[in-house]
Amino acid sequence: MSGTMMTQALTTGSLIAHAETYHAGTEVVSVETDGTKSHSSWGEIGANARRMKSALDTLGVSDGARCATIAWNNRRHLELYFGIGAGGRVTHTINPRLTPEQMIYILNHAEDEVLFLDRTFLPVAAKLGEHLKTVKHYVLMGPRDDEAAQTVEGLLFYDELLETGDAATDWPDLDETAPAALCYTSGTTGNPKGVQYSHRALVLHSIGGNQPDGLNIAARDVVMPVVPMFHVNAWGVPYIAAAVGSKLVMPGPHLDGESLARLIDAEQVTLSLGVPTIWMGLLAGLKATGIKPTSMKRTVVGGSALPPSMIRDFRDAYGVDLIHAWGMTETSPLGTLNQLLQKHDRLSADEQARLREGQGRPPWGVELRIVDETGHELPRDGETQGELQIRGHWVIESYFGQDDSALTMDGWFDTGDVATLDEDGYMVIRDRSKDIIKSGGEWISTVELENIAIAHPKIANAAAIAAHHPKWDERPVIIAVAAEGETPNETEVLASYEGKVAHWQVPDRVVFVDELPLGATGKVLKTKLREAYGNILLEEV
Ligand code: AMP
Repeated sequence: MSGTMMTQALTTGSLIAHAETYHAGTEVVSVETDGTKSHSSWGEIGANARRMKSALDTLGVSDGARCATIAWNNRRHLELYFGIGAGGRVTHTINPRLTPEQMIYILNHAEDEVLFLDRTFLPVAAKLGEHLKTVKHYVLMGPRDDEAAQTVEGLLFYDELLETGDAATDWPDLDETAPAALCYTSGTTGNPKGVQYSHRALVLHSIGGNQPDGLNIAARDVVMPVVPMFHVNAWGVPYIAAAVGSKLVMPGPHLDGESLARLIDAEQVTLSLGVPTIWMGLLAGLKATGIKPTSMKRTVVGGSALPPSMIRDFRDAYGVDLIHAWGMTETSPLGTLNQLLQKHDRLSADEQARLREGQGRPPWGVELRIVDETGHELPRDGETQGELQIRGHWVIESYFGQDDSALTMDGWFDTGDVATLDEDGYMVIRDRSKDIIKSGGEWISTVELENIAIAHPKIANAAAIAAHHPKWDERPVIIAVAAEGETPNETEVLASYEGKVAHWQVPDRVVFVDELPLGATGKVLKTKLREAYGNILLEEV
């Protein structure tokens, strides 16, 4: 009674092979580090990726070796995603905004054999050099550059290295559980931890995360990942775009609002992805240039909470649908995406808008639950809040180089986020567990307080922190940045909380600052704010 189906390994090589075979002529546009724009295609990206795999073989780089990149979102970086990872090695993307100490730690911990760099980061490499124990080859991502050659001994040049490769090289047959990529968490405390992504996890993430209720990227789309390729695989977009053969627009180093507005217009981008701070900049950029992003249908926003006022701003002024998503380095990253169900058609526009403010529900492939401090599951009633846990095909099991499991005894990953879930799986992040404010024994959501402050027309950005209080233990304080040309006062900002939250949740103070401290992945560093302002209420007593 035999009868079986083919079994083929789920590898990232199969993704780029598909793009190269069936979408060879589809464009990949890239803003290069020197500001010029290059036009290539999936056919060229695929051929160059195979050349790079072969060039690394010739260079003597070991099978399975980690090869690091410190680079912007550009064509060569895309070729490396596949040339390294699909070729049987591990693409280790490094966040250039980390401190030199953190970079040295990460490169030594990962034992990288090769370090690929964009021109921008050459000075960094020159500084790191003597501290790196395992890197044998430094490769500048560009053509030969004699001036650069002076700064790092033995510097190789990407375009020359590529010439040594053979475009007839085939993708190797690999075990689907072998690693293809590595990314370290930004880790505000302690040393960063590495998350290694298997081929299988990346392929299943590409399929599961790109369902119609997920990213929903199609061959007809023009996709611009603004989320960096050094931050959780640019949310999987390079792999997904290869799997469906969509046109890609890589924005390179210029991520200010005006540059992005011009690129969207010139390339007729239909879908973009990035963190909220980028889209705050784009709103300003659209205003300044007068550009209307008429081609753009959707923008996926995640990485930190999407302020509801921004959803309205994009929808009302430009007809762009902002889709809120949540994820982590440990979850490849897609964990939830916010798309409505058919039953929500009955709701009023306001009720629908409110539902879409949350982080959304999980696609097939991952499951969520919330638990109390003792690990007991809490009800999915949309109100009870608890520690958010996740499990699934693209969720971490253990950190790179660590034998211990990263999971709970019953196999879930504890996210460190505090959330509510409803019966359909719609999740709303209330806080990071270490950021939440506990006032007189009651929880206050910093996300909710921040959203209200940011919705104030005179406020550009805001963070809510817990400040020590002699009576209530902790009370909320808002640290705010004024909008361009505005000088808001504390009273008017506090007045905007009236009727929106319970009176005991209204912040005690608003402190105005010129800018908020941002971490390497663009998230507000609340630890820094608590250090600076955590005692502000005690000082006043
Ligand atoms: P990272 O591993 O650097 O991507 O950080 C993951 C963390 O970012 C999550 O655990 C959340 O705390 C936060 N995060 C990501 N997306 C969102 C979102 N849409 N809303 C609120 N917080 C988010």
